[in-house]
Amino acid sequence: MSEGKLLSIVIPVYNEGNAIYNNIKTVIGVLCENEIEHEVILVDDGSKDNTWEQLCFLSKDFEAVRALRLSRNFGKEAALCAGIEAVKGDACLIMDSDLQHPPRYIPEFYRLWQQGADVVDGVKKSRGKESAFSKVTAKLFYKLMHGFSGFDMHGASDFKLMSRKVIEAYNSLDEKNTFFRGMSAWLGFNRVELEFEVDERRDGKTKWSPLKLAKLALNAVTSFSSLPLYFVVWLGVAFLIAALALGIQTLVMYFTHQAVSGFTTVILLLLLTGSALMISLGIIGVYISKIYDEVKGRPRYIISEKR
Ligand code: UDP
Ligand code: MG
Repeated sequence: MSEGKLLSIVIPVYNEGNAIYNNIKTVIGVLCENEIEHEVILVDDGSKDNTWEQLCFLSKDFEAVRALRLSRNFGKEAALCAGIEAVKGDACLIMDSDLQHPPRYIPEFYRLWQQGADVVDGVKKSRGKESAFSKVTAKLFYKLMHGFSGFDMHGASDFKLMSRKVIEAYNSLDEKNTFFRGMSAWLGFNRVELEFEVDERRDGKTKWSPLKLAKLALNAVTSFSSLPLYFVVWLGVAFLIAALALGIQTLVMYFTHQAVSGFTTVILLLLLTGSALMISLGIIGVYISKIYDEVKGRPRYIISEKR
């Protein structure tokens, strides 16, 4: 059994002025009905519409609501970090503001936490209604991510509950570019999965442009793997082997007087410098990748419990 009972709900909000009041009301309704002791942290991610006004109304009308406002649109990841750092509860539940993460699952998250889970991962049963393009790109992304980083994040979502010690561990990571789903998988701890159906969006349309999504994907791969850097080294080695074969052929041609004069030297020089360049670039890349690992300053391990 967990010690505390206070559940903090963290919700990033971006340009949702129309629906946000009612959406949050729905969430709070579910919490009250199930007698879950709660606080709600709303993070306005630099919205350009009347979202902040609505959040102010909410914090006036409901005692449990706290609202934060970022100075500009930093993106969902940053908004999540801000929200998680502000959590006062014994656990926090991250969810979307458009009710695509259905509030009816909150009691189930709560129950699993009370039974001792440190992380409850919301796993999408199906991806809900979305375009074929977005389905294919998402699938490709998760495949790549699995290959590169070794974490299988297929079906992963940001609908997640984290207990106090996981929150603390998460806050102790001081990376500047975060990928919440990945970092939370990396942290480990005692995890339980909870399948959920993605609901349809309540109002408006998705806030992710293809460019924003591509940036998130690139960030995810580069913060979890330096494999792309090692690729250059292997390319250099492959090139060197080919160069040796070609070099031998060129020399044979030269000694059997079949080559045009001067040509041999040019080919050999090209082959040698080519592979030398590539390998040295790759080696520099490997060192950069080590520096990169250090600069990220992730702790090497995290203690989950102490007696
Ligand atoms: N969001 C945000 N900042 C952004 C984009 C989105 O805080 O720059 C929030 C948004 O308000 C919502 C959540 O992230 O609560 C998920 O966004 P959305 O529903 O647009 O994404 P989708 O469900 O289409 O993946
Ligand atoms: Mg959504």
